[in-house]
Amino acid sequence: MKTMLAARMHEIGGPLLLEQIPMPEPRPTDVLVAVRACGVVPNLKNVLTKWPEWFPHLPLPKLPAIFGLDPAGVVAEVGSQVQSIRSGDRVYVNPARGCGSCRACRSGEIVNCRGFTFQGYFGRGPLSQGVFDAYPYGGLSEYITAPQSALVKLPDNVSFEAAARFGYLGTAYAAIRKAGAGPGRSLLINGIGGTLGLCAALVGLATGVTKIFGTGRNKVLLDRVKALAPARIEVFSVGKRPVQDWAMEMTDNEGVDAVIDTLPPGAPASAMLDALRALRRGGRAVDVGGVAETLPLNVHWMMGMNIQLIGSCWFTTGEGQEMAEMARAGTLDLSVLEHRRIALREVNNALSSLQDANRGFNNFVVIPSR
Ligand SMILES: [Zn+2]
Repeated sequence: MKTMLAARMHEIGGPLLLEQIPMPEPRPTDVLVAVRACGVVPNLKNVLTKWPEWFPHLPLPKLPAIFGLDPAGVVAEVGSQVQSIRSGDRVYVNPARGCGSCRACRSGEIVNCRGFTFQGYFGRGPLSQGVFDAYPYGGLSEYITAPQSALVKLPDNVSFEAAARFGYLGTAYAAIRKAGAGPGRSLLINGIGGTLGLCAALVGLATGVTKIFGTGRNKVLLDRVKALAPARIEVFSVGKRPVQDWAMEMTDNEGVDAVIDTLPPGAPASAMLDALRALRRGGRAVDVGGVAETLPLNVHWMMGMNIQLIGSCWFTTGEGQEMAEMARAGTLDLSVLEHRRIALREVNNALSSLQDANRGFNNFVVIPSR
């Protein structure tokens, strides 16, 4: 029997154990992918240690389980009914899974499935374990199986390491689309120095957003973000005065067209409200961040100002492919990401040191073959 190396968690908060497990065979419409890089996002540590306590409605897979949200690699084998993907194709695996047969899934809206589940991460309800049973392999493993419909084909100029950031980039891209941001529009990114915030800035530049305003706390990091495109990006250190005052100053008292909130878990509702007040009349806000506190939101202000507030979760494989194409064309520039490569056997050490290194420019990836 062929085996492969995988990092499995046996108990919540326990170390990931490196184990040889049977190599899976792809079912007829699935593929087997040799993982070359898997993103290790700052939130993975929370998922492995605190998730059942923080979010009991977002179930983890039955243990032992293999985690790892954002795998990229090479197709090693295709199922008997796979026609348009070949062995050797370079791919990013979108980990978004649905039940496959509900009304949402049949409409191609997997993120709206009641069983919506992140392969290698966590689910959103009682249907999720069925999805984990079908796709039990996270990216912290030498190989994973995945549905053919979940693959984003990568152009040669996108490295596996950069592709391992597609989860956050795609989340940002879906938010930018929902916000209606683009040429001639201004966009305020709340928390622009973080992993998600920097991705929103890169995708905003790629999609032609005319003016990007970014808030943050770390001045050095804010200056680095501004340097990406000094004529299009303005940054603001929060704390001294309201975001709204600054935004009005920068927009001739109109306010910004769109706000994308990318604040990390634990950020207070007040920090999100502060940014929402920067919207112009008719503006649109999209939340993709980690704020979990209930907002004391004045809906009368929203009505009178014609304001929209939209929640956005993840992205479609189609949106993932559009990002790959922007990168192929060079409008999406991923060269600023600093890849921090971690061998699979070093994953436990890496996870415990991630929290003090939570900056958007760092791109932590596990390389299973190292
Ligand atoms: Zn479904």
